[in-house]
Amino acid sequence: MSDELEIPFKSDVMPAKLELGSELRFRCHKGISCFNACCKQADITLTPYDILRLKDRLGKSFSEFIKDHTVPFQMDQDGVPGIKLRTDNDGACLFVTEEGCSVYPDRPTSCRYYPLGHMAMRKAGVSEEETHYFLVKEDHCKGHEEDQVLTVQEYLHDQETGLYDQMNKEWLQILLKKRSAGPSVGRPSETSLQFFFMASYNLDNFRAFVMSENFRNTYELDDATYAALEKEDQALLQFANKMMRQVLFGEKSIPEKEGVWDKRLEGRKEVWEARRQAEIARKQAEQDDMYDNT
Ligand code: SF4
Ligand code: SF4
Repeated sequence: MSDELEIPFKSDVMPAKLELGSELRFRCHKGISCFNACCKQADITLTPYDILRLKDRLGKSFSEFIKDHTVPFQMDQDGVPGIKLRTDNDGACLFVTEEGCSVYPDRPTSCRYYPLGHMAMRKAGVSEEETHYFLVKEDHCKGHEEDQVLTVQEYLHDQETGLYDQMNKEWLQILLKKRSAGPSVGRPSETSLQFFFMASYNLDNFRAFVMSENFRNTYELDDATYAALEKEDQALLQFANKMMRQVLFGEKSIPEKEGVWDKRLEGRKEVWEARRQAEIARKQAEQDDMYDNT
């Protein structure tokens, strides 16, 4: 058995499987007859790092970028939230211009990979996942008729996917782990799906959560870490991945303060006791009603 994760670069067209050393005949350039055709039918799923890069390029906060430039969707049957780039009513990306992509240096991962697909796969009993590549051939894309031949590795190097791959890796592993867990763990709670959305996409809210007094009272982080999380988006994004592992899978990835568990238990005991008393009172009231009506 193996688990697979299709990373956002999908197409209806059946792709051919490739490795890093496989050759790819393809070239996209401004003079090509289909220039911009792909961006006029854009279906771009965003990773957290895509959002970070694009919101910086546009000088927006995470919240503003999400509101102005994205639409939500469900990534799987469990309702795990994803977000896509917003398009116009005809399906064209809002960043495409006659000159090409207006955010080119910060374009999303899937725009860099195209016409390659990208899939992480983990074999049963093996902790490290493997990455496989796929060539997507669509009729409108004439880049496949050009003469340039590069290996997959050379093509990805040209597209500067390195930093994107590095920053996406941990988050994609979380998605893969979530999928690997399968139905045995049941549908995630609404609270954990909301946490996933915040920690993946809306890092403004995640930052406020990390800087809150409640968080500081719970987790053991030094001042330098808090300073980095307050100011540096990349550090915050990487920390959000760690936090997701803790919250979603119960991994002890962030140290908790001593005695926090006991305090939490104590707090829960108070809640349980209050609920017990409320239940006793409810039953008592029911009995009183019964006697009043006889
Ligand atoms: S972000 Fe740029 S490359 Fe990607 S679909 Fe939009 S215009 Fe095209
Ligand atoms: S060659 Fe393909 S990727 Fe390049 S503009 Fe044309 S459709 Fe888009």
